[in-house]
Amino acid sequence: MPRVISFHYTLKDRTGLTLDSSQAKPPLTYMEGADMIIEGLEKQMLPLNKGDKKKIVVPAAEAYGPKGPENRHPLAGKELTFDVEIVSVREATQEEIEHGHPHEEGHSH
Ligand SMILES: [Zn+2]
Repeated sequence: MPRVISFHYTLKDRTGLTLDSSQAKPPLTYMEGADMIIEGLEKQMLPLNKGDKKKIVVPAAEAYGPKGPENRHPLAGKELTFDVEIVSVREATQEEIEHGHPHEEGHSH
């Protein structure tokens, strides 16, 4: 069963410059296997549980890929460091698995 995970993160580049952070916002929620966060981050978060804090380094190839004419993402070609803190972990429901996304408060259809 995939898990639904909510976490806070601070994203930094190789020089330590903060690029993004969830600290002033609600935590980010994703469902495992649903391609909601970058592959290299999800893979390294698999062993984590509620309350865990970890520094996760994701090489460019497992983040936004190499920079090039086909890839103009601003984070392409960058190795990314995420300081993550797991806020909550639960099993995905059957309905969420069928829909391919988590159902948080306020999400209904
Ligand atoms: Zn749904």
